[in-house]
Amino acid sequence: VLSTAQDFDFFYLVLQWPGAYCDTRRSCCYPTTGKPAADFSIHGLWPNYNDGSYPSNCDPDSPFDASKIKDLIGRMQAEWPTLACPSGDGLTFWEHEWEKHGTCSESVLDQHHYFQTALDLKDKLNLLGILRDAGIEPDGGYYSLSSISGAIKAATGFTPGIECNVDEARNSQLYQVYLCVDSSASGFIECPNLPRRKCSSRIEFPAF
Ligand code: 5GP
Ligand code: 5GP
Ligand code: 5GP
Repeated sequence: VLSTAQDFDFFYLVLQWPGAYCDTRRSCCYPTTGKPAADFSIHGLWPNYNDGSYPSNCDPDSPFDASKIKDLIGRMQAEWPTLACPSGDGLTFWEHEWEKHGTCSESVLDQHHYFQTALDLKDKLNLLGILRDAGIEPDGGYYSLSSISGAIKAATGFTPGIECNVDEARNSQLYQVYLCVDSSASGFIECPNLPRRKCSSRIEFPAF
């Protein structure tokens, strides 16, 4: 009975910019299903506590089961592609995300709902559209961190977390965007705890 209690406070929806994942010293590998679209893709939907800590690997008895998301595979390949090396079809990445994070919100979202909810939240957000509408394009140009945050805040009502990584020349670039989602996964909320991740005040938005 105790194990059915919902044991987290909110989710982070974490989106990655493939151009930044690939433009590092480690480089990247396109999935076996082909080069993904030049759009943000999903890294994960992560249950979190208000104090910034988080649960992980909550249920060893709930292994990833691809047969439960058969109807979502086309969307998963397009919107949640793996860019790690060596190239894969995504199943290993999705298995990792389900087992590490998804099993910690199982009281709210079963496996099918977990993946479907992340996909639907990403679509509803349309992050690249928000940035483009604000004149912020993945063209290798530099943008102020505040203009990126401000555009997302203006469009959604919520302040995002922005994470940067560095390219081979050590330039700071837009890597991941965090938005918070309420614990029932019904919509975006103001973040109880904004992840603070290293970015310069002006960052590159690399092409992909
Ligand atoms: P990194 O060290 O690359 O930022 O994070 C490594 C992994 O730790 C992530 O892929 C994710 O699984 C987990 N992680 C990092 N930060 C957070 C966080 O704030 N909340 C949650 N739930 N997981 C995190
Ligand atoms: P985390 O534990 O940080 O949630 O998940 C990251 C894990 O998924 C790492 O082991 C990483 O190698 C793997 N992974 C596979 N494909 C990707 C990808 O496209 N992006 C990221 N960030 N991690 C990926
Ligand atoms: P993981 O534990 O996820 O394998 O990897 C740890 C960190 O390395 C993550 O932050 C992930 O984004 C990054 N990473 C893992 N594999 C790759 C890769 O193939 N290319 C790049 N650029 N980063 C990677």
